[in-house]
Amino acid sequence: MSKIVDQWVERLKGKLPPVGEMTHWERLAAAMDLKKTDMVPVAPELDYWQITYAGYSHKEIYNDVDKTTDACIKTWADLRCDAIWMYIDISHQIENFIPAEKRPEHFILRGDKDYLLFKPIAHTLDEAIALYETKAYERYINDSRAVTHYTPHMLQLLEFQEKMDRQVPVILGMATPTNYAETVVEVQNFLRWMVVEPEDKMRHYLNLCLQERLASLEFYREYAAKNGCQFMCLFGGARTWGPKHLDKFADVDRIFAEKVAEIFPYTFWHHCGHNLPKALDMISATRGVKGVQYDMPYYGQTVTWPEWFEEVARKFHGKQCAMNAPTTQLACHGTSQQVSEMVDQFIDATLPHTTACIMPGCEIDSFTPVENVKAMIDTARARRIK
Ligand SMILES: [Zn+2]
Repeated sequence: MSKIVDQWVERLKGKLPPVGEMTHWERLAAAMDLKKTDMVPVAPELDYWQITYAGYSHKEIYNDVDKTTDACIKTWADLRCDAIWMYIDISHQIENFIPAEKRPEHFILRGDKDYLLFKPIAHTLDEAIALYETKAYERYINDSRAVTHYTPHMLQLLEFQEKMDRQVPVILGMATPTNYAETVVEVQNFLRWMVVEPEDKMRHYLNLCLQERLASLEFYREYAAKNGCQFMCLFGGARTWGPKHLDKFADVDRIFAEKVAEIFPYTFWHHCGHNLPKALDMISATRGVKGVQYDMPYYGQTVTWPEWFEEVARKFHGKQCAMNAPTTQLACHGTSQQVSEMVDQFIDATLPHTTACIMPGCEIDSFTPVENVKAMIDTARARRIK
């Protein structure tokens, strides 16, 4: 039982005007099931942004679960997006690999609105393999933010979701094996090793990452699924891999994603950066994945935005909901007029081929103007689907 959740439920339950004919949950679920919706759902990834929107600094919420949850619910109550994204930062993901006294060297909390920066925890492939072979991630977990912050925050939001009778879904996030493999050592090192290290050694490392991820699923089954979670975002890695590397190594993510989708009926895949069509093909062929949060075309591919939206929508036809628009960069640096235009372009290019969800390719930057977030919501709400 959480006081902060109960206060919000008392303030909101039965008192909110409806948005359209469907509930938020029904709208997002229908789009992911490739069914008709009253409006295109809007679910931008607001995890850091909602902290500053609600008037908190990142320092203030870093160790304060109630304030973190308060920020997420307040933002939803004001804006009425079709999902609530939980707050996640990189320390939730890797603090458990690091003994407490060493953590200050690894995480840098800069300004009030800045992202948490981190330093890699292994510098050679041998070191990275050793971390996994010795199960270093289990040794330091009990006082890590995975336990002290991520889990209680997640439970509070799920409590809110359930007490509000599933009007609005809470989206949780999990990193895939390749995301971990890259994060632990930094992406550029990982990419270099794919070229210079023996293939079987890279394979061994990726398999270790896969094993850890599969083991972590028991936690998610027990604490997330059993408490009502149905919407899961997979934070993918392998965003800068070439076609050969995707062929050789990317199967670990597919294996993992298919297991996740067996537990969470609304699983979707976050693939940010410059997207290779081949990577999107691979994701699109993954069993159970109902949506893809994609991003920009790869370097050198000279297509217009409407062409790119259409190309991807055709790929996802009959398989996935296309999640995009505007770009994260435009949301932060563009005008609200430009944001609105891109949302319209995306909807126009996508709906003839598959369902759509307004969800920029990556997390909304903390410095993004409020009017730009409102512009993406208002633009989608203004259009009724016939
Ligand atoms: Zn991203």
